Amino acid sequence: MGEVRSLLRHIPKVDEVLMDERLLFFYKDTPRNVIVDSVREKLDSIREEILEGKLTEISDKDELISDIVSSITEKKKKNLRRVINATGVVLHTNLGRAELSKAAAAAVAEVADSYSTLEYDLKRGQRGSRQDIVEAAVRKVTGAEAAMVVNNNAAATMIVLAAMARGKEVVVSRGELVEIGGSFRIPDVMSESGAFLKEVGTTNKTKPSDYENAYNEEMTGAFMKVHTSNYRIVGFTEDVSLPDMVELGKKFRVPVIYDMGNGLMTDLHRYGVNEPTVKDAVAAGPDVILFSGDKLLGGPQAGIIIGSKKYIDLMKKHPLARAFRVDKMTLAALETTFYQYQDEDKAMKDIPVLRMISSTEEELSEKAKELMAKLCEAVPSFSYEVEKCLDQVGGGSAPTNYLKGCAVALYKDGIPAEKVERLLRKAEIPVVARINHDRVLIDVRTVNEDEFDEVISAVKFVEKTIGGKEGEH
Ligand SMILES: *Cc1c(COP(=O)(O)O)cnc(C)c1O
Repeated sequence: MGEVRSLLRHIPKVDEVLMDERLLFFYKDTPRNVIVDSVREKLDSIREEILEGKLTEISDKDELISDIVSSITEKKKKNLRRVINATGVVLHTNLGRAELSKAAAAAVAEVADSYSTLEYDLKRGQRGSRQDIVEAAVRKVTGAEAAMVVNNNAAATMIVLAAMARGKEVVVSRGELVEIGGSFRIPDVMSESGAFLKEVGTTNKTKPSDYENAYNEEMTGAFMKVHTSNYRIVGFTEDVSLPDMVELGKKFRVPVIYDMGNGLMTDLHRYGVNEPTVKDAVAAGPDVILFSGDKLLGGPQAGIIIGSKKYIDLMKKHPLARAFRVDKMTLAALETTFYQYQDEDKAMKDIPVLRMISSTEEELSEKAKELMAKLCEAVPSFSYEVEKCLDQVGGGSAPTNYLKGCAVALYKDGIPAEKVERLLRKAEIPVVARINHDRVLIDVRTVNEDEFDEVISAVKFVEKTIGGKEGEH
């Protein structure tokens, strides 16, 4: 008992530990509470272990401080953290969909910590509209008459239906009643908007006559076409093309809405991606088109609505416009992204989503070899191989298209791939990779060259953790 009391007396005091110079280093950028909590927790746990008789000797100061430093470092990790996407899925929904271009990210940073012209007209020195910030650029790039931006495409669908067809029927093909990401379902959005869904046709076939028969002078508010972004119906199928829908709309004087989802500006067929483009959609002439900002457009999360001024004006005045409006950072990123589209060739290189999708097998093979050479040199205890693989666009786009890609396979005898994969996620900058045939694949399509050093650091971390005593079980 006397021994326990003497041990307890030897536990350092909180204030004393706080003065250690190895902790002083944290003070300039860490809230004091975080440091104090880490010290207290460590000292409390020592006290408990002594009382439980598990500790017969107070660990030395260095060990104590090093434990506290790890605890502070752990506490400082943010919940929203940067990761390296080594999955080869370009628009990885769980990893934040599109990576912004460098220029778009810089534009966000510029307005983030300063005042801006969000709703201010500098020329006239008066109040302006945030919708004007991107409208001209969107119009220029898409060729549309008017444009408006909301939080995402789900919000866009909602406001379009509420403004154009509240209390009326909206005719949609049964083959196009999509669900995206678990919570966006056309029938549910429709009922929330106050419009009534009028389903026509069958799952695999819908004909112009189906829309004609559904038309009712009193009740029909709009014909709506929904792009089946994340699935395709194959086999004996028939649907009504957008131009034919526009014809039907003209015939019955009913507005036509096209929910296209992807927001693709440049044709990607030559890269093996079969998705319609916004320009083709505009050329077909529906009254309103809506799409996401962070899918194939490669911008920030947003819902972009383009079309005739008459309808866009209705939406701008709608009460939901305020609820769904975007902030200055979204607008900054979007304005720059659309600006970049004014030079399409350059956009293919500067907008990450387009650059990643258009990377050829040869380019990716070279890139994988380069990463492998660096890994061989930095972490020779692992085995590596360049492996061909199939990548996906992701984000609910081009569900049936696979892109030919390349990965660095990484393995070590006696170590399960699951363990390597898990440890890569625990690295300081986590690497999210996939497993194929008991090997971890670092797919280089979605890893930028300037991230190679961080991938190497992560693999070093895995090696150290496996080799060290602290290896997990
Ligand atoms: C992705 C998608 C949506 C939902 O868009 P979010 O931007 O994720 O809200 C709606 N409709 C279609 C056709 C889509 O592809």
